[in-house]
Amino acid sequence: MERTRTQKEGPTMYKIMTPGPTQVAENVRLARSLPCTNPDLDEAFVEFYKETCETISGLLHTGNETLILGGEGILGLEAACASLTEPGDKVLVLDNGIYGKGFADFVSLYGGIPELYTVDDRNAIDAAALERFLAKSHDYKYATVVHGDTPSGMLNDIAAICPLLKSYGILTVVDSVSAMFGEEVDVDAARIDLLCGGSQKVVSAPPGLTFVTLSADAKKAMDERKTPVASFYANLKTFEHYYEEKWFPYTMPISDIRGLRAAIDNIAADKDILKRHAAIGAAARAAVTEAGLSLYLESGFSNTVTVFCVPEGMTDREILTAMREEHGILLAGSFGDLAGKVIRIGHMGENASVSDMTEVFGALDQVFAKLHVPLKVSLRDCFLERLSV
Ligand SMILES: *Cc1c(COP(=O)(O)O)cnc(C)c1O
Repeated sequence: MERTRTQKEGPTMYKIMTPGPTQVAENVRLARSLPCTNPDLDEAFVEFYKETCETISGLLHTGNETLILGGEGILGLEAACASLTEPGDKVLVLDNGIYGKGFADFVSLYGGIPELYTVDDRNAIDAAALERFLAKSHDYKYATVVHGDTPSGMLNDIAAICPLLKSYGILTVVDSVSAMFGEEVDVDAARIDLLCGGSQKVVSAPPGLTFVTLSADAKKAMDERKTPVASFYANLKTFEHYYEEKWFPYTMPISDIRGLRAAIDNIAADKDILKRHAAIGAAARAAVTEAGLSLYLESGFSNTVTVFCVPEGMTDREILTAMREEHGILLAGSFGDLAGKVIRIGHMGENASVSDMTEVFGALDQVFAKLHVPLKVSLRDCFLERLSV
């Protein structure tokens, strides 16, 4: 299924091959321009909202309830921590990347005591090592885990990690904002209590929405709180009876949600989506290494983003500017400790397209030639060759 993506007019003509926001299909943009109703008073909207939430839950292989919140991915992460954390709660923060470590701030903000489990940021979290740690230390209310830590391209094995945490009675909060739908997520099999997603990564809708999927155990923990949640906007409990009462805690951004629904329907109709991400991810990594560039990670490669080191003798800006100004393609650098060190190609969602990725690697061949970086093979040719085997 080919969807139109070309933007004929508008502020930018860049091809955005960044790890979020990603390109937005025309049917998603058009869905955002449908006539509006009053989402507070029109019950048809409540049905539409609920159906959209149920479609998301279905794609995540669970009957657990999903809630769509009006705010970016960060709101989902904060809402998960705000809703679970009571002052003094101990929380295990699994950290092998920038978003991983970042959870500690949300835990602290709501009075919790984060304990960092910090491991090598070039390798996926080792479930066996975590198991040895947990055997000795497991007195935590919940743990936070990042599925795809986008600044480095890290993919953690939530299917192994989350059941392990649950076996010690530790609730799990998973950030899969940049991985879900490009990587397998099975909420029930992994026993995930709170799963956070966002509109502008693999989902390929514009930024503005987050969604959180909640287990019965997560709801029970929220019900059993002794202290109120120190937030209104980030309190997931405020949605508890929205359907029965036909009432949302704040006015829902109806056009954003119509766009999200079209994007989710695109995903539901795209039966090969995981296979395509896997094939493109593997071919991209092969092209980068065979050309003589180095990948940032040693293991735990996400199929949604490829991260390679900036070759010596140049800056990330030189590469990014040439890609943008000479080829009309936006790639990303990174941030935190990785700022200036790596280039990121986001091949998630709508960006997981063979033709777009061929264009990216063709342009990178030219940019590296211009910057006098000798490549052992053409990135573009190697990408196409690897894709076909
Ligand atoms: C993009 C992203 C988020 C959400 O960040 P926003 O700034 O709200 O887009 C959260 N977690 C991860 C891993 C992400 O990649």
